[in-house]
Amino acid sequence: MSFNNLIGQSELRSLLHSSLLEGNLSHAILFTGPPGSGKASWAAALAQGILCSDGLTAEPCESCNYCRTYKSGNHPGFFRLEPEGRWIKIEQLRSIREKFYLSGGRKVCLIDDAEKMTAETAASLLKILEDPPADLYFILIAGESRYLKDTIVSRCQRYTLYPLRIDEVKELLVREKGLPDERAELLARISAGLPGRALQLAEDEDFEERFREAETLAFNLASGCDSVRQLLSWANYLSEKDDIIAFLELVCLIYRDGLIQNLCRSGESIITSEEQSSWIDRVSPAAFEEAVLLINEAVCKIDDTNANRRLLLERMLILLQRRLTRCQGS
Ligand SMILES: [Zn+2]
Repeated sequence: MSFNNLIGQSELRSLLHSSLLEGNLSHAILFTGPPGSGKASWAAALAQGILCSDGLTAEPCESCNYCRTYKSGNHPGFFRLEPEGRWIKIEQLRSIREKFYLSGGRKVCLIDDAEKMTAETAASLLKILEDPPADLYFILIAGESRYLKDTIVSRCQRYTLYPLRIDEVKELLVREKGLPDERAELLARISAGLPGRALQLAEDEDFEERFREAETLAFNLASGCDSVRQLLSWANYLSEKDDIIAFLELVCLIYRDGLIQNLCRSGESIITSEEQSSWIDRVSPAAFEEAVLLINEAVCKIDDTNANRRLLLERMLILLQRRLTRCQGS
């Protein structure tokens, strides 16, 4: 895959281009960025660009034997390490290490979720990086570099992926998924500029229904139209949902979008119903901000602990309604 097939990331694109052109690509490259930001796609394009017989190139030929075997997953010089279970274990690295030193052209070892390397794996990788075989390139992918050993990070050429612009994600959805403009725009905004997340949403059959329900709850809480009894029944209903995190993230995004609308007084809201969108003007930016924090806090607790979901949701909904309706009319 050529870099031209990838959207956005102009800074990373030009840095990588010049590294490849000037022949100073490091033997260890680290891509960091939030989940869904496109790290894996960039890493895959770079791996092909390294392995292609035209290499090192940002535009692999797609037709040489190396490109073809890479794309079919059979390139003998391409190795992939990723967590087996929770960790990338030393045995996994040991099982391929000898092949790094064989002759036969350029090789790539891609390490996905590199922060999941055990201390032993990381120490062994560091040893290789201290004296790397001539034609071997490591491509590491990680959420954040702070979870990796400093000694490894300092040996890597680092590239950070940032969320894309909404119009870039929209363009991707139209091109890759053939979505109509309006729907592509909605998903692009909800994905917060993360192409992986947007593509996932485009394939999620339950998305439409979840979004409508999230809109209803966001509206009800902000207008204060639900009684405490109704809020408790919402909490009970939501606590049984398998996709509760995805659902709360949607409500959170609706409020975050409301905050942006309030602050900028421009652009279109992601809220699709006109009748419901007018409530945004009545909620203060501070209340939106508090709502976003409250939901994020609840998401973390639901994710991380065995907390009683229903009680947690009851508390969150009551607080949300109180905060969102507090400043209205002022
Ligand atoms: Zn090629």
